[in-house]
Amino acid sequence: MARLTNLALRREIIAACLEMNATGLNQGTSGNVSARIKGGMLITPSGVPYAEMEPEQIVMVKADGTYSGDWRPSSEWRMHRDIYVQRSEAVAVVHVHSTHATALSCLRQPIPAFHYMVAVAGGTDVRCARYAQFGTQALSDAMLEALDGRSACLLGNHGQIAFGPSIAKALWLAGEIEALAHQYVVARGLGAPVILDDQEMRRVLDAFKDYGRQPARKAA
Ligand code: 13P
Ligand code: ZN
Repeated sequence: MARLTNLALRREIIAACLEMNATGLNQGTSGNVSARIKGGMLITPSGVPYAEMEPEQIVMVKADGTYSGDWRPSSEWRMHRDIYVQRSEAVAVVHVHSTHATALSCLRQPIPAFHYMVAVAGGTDVRCARYAQFGTQALSDAMLEALDGRSACLLGNHGQIAFGPSIAKALWLAGEIEALAHQYVVARGLGAPVILDDQEMRRVLDAFKDYGRQPARKAA
């Protein structure tokens, strides 16, 4: 067999999958993780339990969707590919069926600015993409629209997807989206949450630009 390339990155993808299931962010073989590489991406294989996943099963997919080897890529390779093509800042993508984000997506509802932290995805809300069947180009097209100016969105009757400048940051963002969805569902159970207006959210987005920037810490 040919020497396995990008071994460390393959291991990092599997570690992220194990973490997303161990922390309850995802369950079973739902969800998928990818990372950008020169000429395409590395992505989890379709339908393989994460606890059994081996580095050689991670699939290298080119931008045109072709792949080599015995393992079929995630059925959602189009969503991952399209994020890398459209969003030059994306280095890793995490898709999960986290409980509260998925529950809201089944109502086809966005997460509004009920809490200032919705700015974490880059805008004044976290949109919900219209429904389309899993694994289709129609789903990817709907996702790209919902991601306009954002780095995460809900997917109608499905779950959520997030991207970032590293696997760790994409996974972190998916966790933030789930936490926000959970808080929003709880708040709605108590009454009608007060929604922050656009002017306030613009100020928050501005403040976020250097939030967490510590001069003593090297840039990631
Ligand atoms: P895959 O196992 O093909 O990645 O599918 C999981 C999923 O979440 C489909 O939307
Ligand atoms: Zn899915």
